[in-house]
Amino acid sequence: MIFKSLSKIQSDLNHNETTILELVETYLSNINKHETNNAFVEVFAEEARHRAEQLDGKFKNNPDAMGPLFGAVISIKDNLCYENHQVSAGSKMLANFTSPYSATVVQRLIDADAIIIGRTNCDEFSMGSTSETSFYGPVKNAVNVEHVAGGSSGGAAVSIKLNQCLAAIGSDTGGSIRQPASFNGVLGFKPTYGIVSRWGLIAYGSSLDAIGVLSHDVSTISDIINVISGQDQYDSTMLQEPVPQLKLEQFDLSHFKIATLTELVQHQKLDSSVKNSFDLFIKNEGLNVEEISFPLTEYLVPAYYILCCAEASSNLSRFDGIRYGHKSSEDVENFNQQIKNSRTEGFGLEVKKRIILGNYVLSEGYYDAYFKKAQQVRSLIKTFIDDLFDKYDFIILPTTTSEAWLLGESTKDPIEMYLADMYTVLANLCGIPAINIPLTNKNSILPLGIQILAKSGNDGRILSFVSNLSNASKA
Ligand code: GLN
Repeated sequence: MIFKSLSKIQSDLNHNETTILELVETYLSNINKHETNNAFVEVFAEEARHRAEQLDGKFKNNPDAMGPLFGAVISIKDNLCYENHQVSAGSKMLANFTSPYSATVVQRLIDADAIIIGRTNCDEFSMGSTSETSFYGPVKNAVNVEHVAGGSSGGAAVSIKLNQCLAAIGSDTGGSIRQPASFNGVLGFKPTYGIVSRWGLIAYGSSLDAIGVLSHDVSTISDIINVISGQDQYDSTMLQEPVPQLKLEQFDLSHFKIATLTELVQHQKLDSSVKNSFDLFIKNEGLNVEEISFPLTEYLVPAYYILCCAEASSNLSRFDGIRYGHKSSEDVENFNQQIKNSRTEGFGLEVKKRIILGNYVLSEGYYDAYFKKAQQVRSLIKTFIDDLFDKYDFIILPTTTSEAWLLGESTKDPIEMYLADMYTVLANLCGIPAINIPLTNKNSILPLGIQILAKSGNDGRILSFVSNLSNASKA
């Protein structure tokens, strides 16, 4: 018994065809069955069962009192705080940290009667594209365990593909929801920057970070975004305008003007299998797509990595073993040595590399040459894309350069791995919404994905786009 949409679950609950406890048991058994995929860092099994019983009782007594997400069993990425639960951001640095409060998103899910089933494995502090930098070991691809799950929300994507929960909450700084969604064959949505509160998300690159949702079903994603989005006094970077509730509308996809970006779709690093599936998708859906030259293409990845490392070096300075995190027990002579030992022991290599790079681009003498330049480039990219949306309704792009890599393959060449982010970082640099739509791969069992991007605030339109796809393209 596997349900892929919240509406089906709620309809079955209404007809007494299942119970919330039965749903939880099904997901828990799938988690046990696929333990080797390493999608979860921790499963809240007993707690989920207990809450399911409580919610079943509430439903029996007063069905009208149920919150909008009753019946939704959800995983959260291990970088979202949940009161009295551990949260580690996949790092030894926080391996023993218990959060004293819940992220706004987590609290809103609970208040809406959802059940949190566990925390999912991810790259350390969300830095990576394969979920191999986690202190808890790599997540393995849901379709073929010899391949990576993608990252950094690899555990989240695998938890959906293997039906270990109905929906997964992830975070996306440069593609961390969409890329693992593509590698595992599920939907992965990054909303407009500023419509979902980041309070209680362990920050990586604060001007790029967005919390979003992975699932098999677009209406489920819409239902969850409607619960977690909207004003929050604890996040001052949120959009000031009220966030409207999303509605899935019916429309004819061929009526839209859609742009794709020449230098990206003709890039030599784009695998022919991805390009073929991308072209076929456009043809099968009868989309009206025009190629537009995007002269800033080669600056996307460098600008992203300069900015995210700069912001990470600042965000991660609080992990010093005194304010937060692992404290070294080595004997030391002074305070600086104490901090140095704690950070040396607590952080993994990728995180250290990015902190050093971030400090470098922010240091006197290099600030103007790197950090300021990257900000200027970001602003040029954003202006270009904003102007494009004056003429086009959507942008369509591949999500990744290829299918999921073999485990261990990408860590050999980190620059190659960074370059593979070229299709996803655009949405974060511009703060616009984007979704991965899974595609089947003609040449292999490993899935592929395409991405739809829209103007800021057009979250409902992107989700409607997906809901209007022909059956052949649906997840
Ligand atoms: N792969 C990108 C990085 O390592 C994106 C990660 C993310 O979105 N958190 O920065």
